[in-house]
Amino acid sequence: MVAVLLDSEGSVQFQLKFSQDQQNRVKIEGFVRAALALECQRCLEKVVLSVDARPELVVIEVPSEADRIPEECEPVLVEDGTLRIQELVEEELLLAIPLVPMHALEDCAMAKSDTAVTERHDDREESGPVSPFSILSSLKLNK
Ligand SMILES: [Zn+2]
Repeated sequence: MVAVLLDSEGSVQFQLKFSQDQQNRVKIEGFVRAALALECQRCLEKVVLSVDARPELVVIEVPSEADRIPEECEPVLVEDGTLRIQELVEEELLLAIPLVPMHALEDCAMAKSDTAVTERHDDREESGPVSPFSILSSLKLNK
């Protein structure tokens, strides 16, 4: 968790509801919300993004149980009988963080200062998905 954060600024809010389903499995539902300070992949400045996860989890004790839980739920493996809420919350946040965190266009220093690169990029013919990191490296070269 700490590795992806630029600093410890930000806040985390979560609410998890525990219940038992017909099969006596522990279900966890709720929300995890946070404002996280990440590195904008366009201008490399700090960007504070809010993430909002709505976990629907079922606690399992052996990995094979994962096949038997409802499709809409994610399995949470608890091996030693202890559920670590903090790890669970961190995991949910990590999953909710965008793969390529960026400022909104109007807030991004790079998008403002370097419109020429953006135009050139638009003219280029593209085939297949473009890696955000290849865009990033071309931005650096053109600078
Ligand atoms: Zn930016």
